[in-house]
Amino acid sequence: MNIHEYQAKELLAKHGIPVPAGHAALSVDEAVAGAGKLPGPLYVVKAQIHAGGRGKGKFKELGQDAKGGVRLAKSVDEVRANAEEMLGKTLVTIQTGGEGKQVNRLYVTDGVDIAKEYYLALLVDRASGRVAMVVSTEGGMDIEQVAHDTPERITTITIDPVQGFQGHHGRALAFALKLTGELNKQAQALGKKLYEAFIALDCAMLEINPLVESKDGQLLVLDAKMSFDSNAMFRHPDVEALRDETEEDPAEVEASKYDLAYIKLDGDIGCMVNGAGLAMATMDIIKLNGAFPANFLDVGGGASKEKVTAAFKIILSDPAVKGILVNIFGGIMRCDIIADGIVAAAREVDLKVPLVVRLEGTNVEEGKRILADSGLAIVPANDLGDAAQKIVAAVKDVA
Ligand code: GDP
Ligand code: MG
Repeated sequence: MNIHEYQAKELLAKHGIPVPAGHAALSVDEAVAGAGKLPGPLYVVKAQIHAGGRGKGKFKELGQDAKGGVRLAKSVDEVRANAEEMLGKTLVTIQTGGEGKQVNRLYVTDGVDIAKEYYLALLVDRASGRVAMVVSTEGGMDIEQVAHDTPERITTITIDPVQGFQGHHGRALAFALKLTGELNKQAQALGKKLYEAFIALDCAMLEINPLVESKDGQLLVLDAKMSFDSNAMFRHPDVEALRDETEEDPAEVEASKYDLAYIKLDGDIGCMVNGAGLAMATMDIIKLNGAFPANFLDVGGGASKEKVTAAFKIILSDPAVKGILVNIFGGIMRCDIIADGIVAAAREVDLKVPLVVRLEGTNVEEGKRILADSGLAIVPANDLGDAAQKIVAAVKDVA
């Protein structure tokens, strides 16, 4: 789960981390009122969308010469003019894809006089089983480019979760950023607070690009991108409340209502599978047969008729889907019940694309008979390889 920059900064501020003051705004008037509460004379008006690269982004409705989604303003009148120009427009950045994202919300912040920009990110590093703090003196720019061209300018510090953030981690961080004196001390304290916030909030990723040194000698979090471990959100109802569904894929929002784990992908074969491991194996075998999955979908252990129907509808809401592969292992759930669910769901959604079903497990023969007797054009498959070949062939016939 992702949140907006202004929300991330509010959470960080609660953990004692220095961020510039700012106010979120849903209208031009709110933006002007927000600016009125700041000291001035420099303000920044920032588009709030769940994507980075806003500064260099372009608004679809404005010309190529127009400014991007992060704008400096030297007066409240300039804040107003920028807010008027940005709200409701579509911002295209390297992270939004070509269709861009509509800007419904702005963040008006206190403008910082920047002396230098740094990069700092925290993420869960599965290889080391630790939280990794990735830092660089090259902030404010595309970190992938820095990693590619000058990898020696990126330092990774891993933190053992049992020991937590130690003094030596702080010193390594300040050293990597080449900071001395007062700023060195600030970096050490900041690193510790960021790590503690990351753990306390069950973050998956926290990217600060840039972390800045202001001309008056303060380290400040100027931009913040934060995402969370969705499976831990039950522990953080206050964080879950920050979810902005308008920023998420509508099909994924719908799926989460039915407790279905659905991720949209770029291919044309819809997949309905139980169990994340089997779902991944199913996607692999589709690719092995030369086609691409349209989604990842794990219907979970108790695949009821309601869930299966919802899953069919969600898969079919993707116009790219040319066929569906159902791959269910009936362990606790019996195959005959699953077959009933599939037949009922296929009727309810008036399925028009080819459907290949591979069932295995308890009562599999009865399940297969139900599918065969349904009168629907369901293609039965015997095993995973057979299923993948059949759906890939069926989709090729359609194309
Ligand atoms: P992003 O483009 O989505 O990553 O948005 P950022 O919040 O990182 O802003 C992009 C760039 O705008 C930063 O790297 C800074 O160079 C500049 N910027 C943002 N806020 C300020 C500010 O308060 N003062 C100044 N001088 N520049 C800023
Ligand atoms: Mg940034």
